[in-house]
Amino acid sequence: MKTFFKSIKELDQFTANLDYHRSSIKCGHCDSGEYLVSHGYSYKDTTTRYRITGKRLFCSPRYGRKGCGKTQPLYVADTMPSLRYSAVCISIFITLLLNTHSIEEAYHFATNCADSRNAYRWLNKLEKQLVRYRTFIVSFGPPFSHVYKHRRSKRLNILLPTLQQLSDKHPFLFSVKLQLMQQKSYF
Ligand SMILES: [Zn+2]
Repeated sequence: MKTFFKSIKELDQFTANLDYHRSSIKCGHCDSGEYLVSHGYSYKDTTTRYRITGKRLFCSPRYGRKGCGKTQPLYVADTMPSLRYSAVCISIFITLLLNTHSIEEAYHFATNCADSRNAYRWLNKLEKQLVRYRTFIVSFGPPFSHVYKHRRSKRLNILLPTLQQLSDKHPFLFSVKLQLMQQKSYF
């Protein structure tokens, strides 16, 4: 089922025509798409403002419908479902790492946050997805031969060549693009 959308406009068009999409939507809790209705926008509290992150569908048990009463999230593709920061911040963080910035610098520039402890959580999450990223890269043909600049960190030397390939194949905001193409969270 389509979960990530290019823009709020595309998401609005989707939820305005749910009956048209009825055969391709289903509730993640009860598996039925029959009773899903649009349930308004969802927001995230970022450091500067509330940002629309998507919408929710409601599996409605009201007005004669027999849904399970749970909600189902739909996201604008620059949203990271499990993070406060957007997928744009993740792309910036990785791009800076690829340009030989330190982990601390990359995190600071990407998030404007001085405390970089969270950057190591991001690296953990990225590591867990490495096999998935590699499979995704291969699905777009042979990898580019790219000269990778070795780093002192063993960890980055495992992680960055794959992220470099991902960035070469899908330059600019590759985390947003991957969410759109795979309909799955970047990590
Ligand atoms: Zn349901």
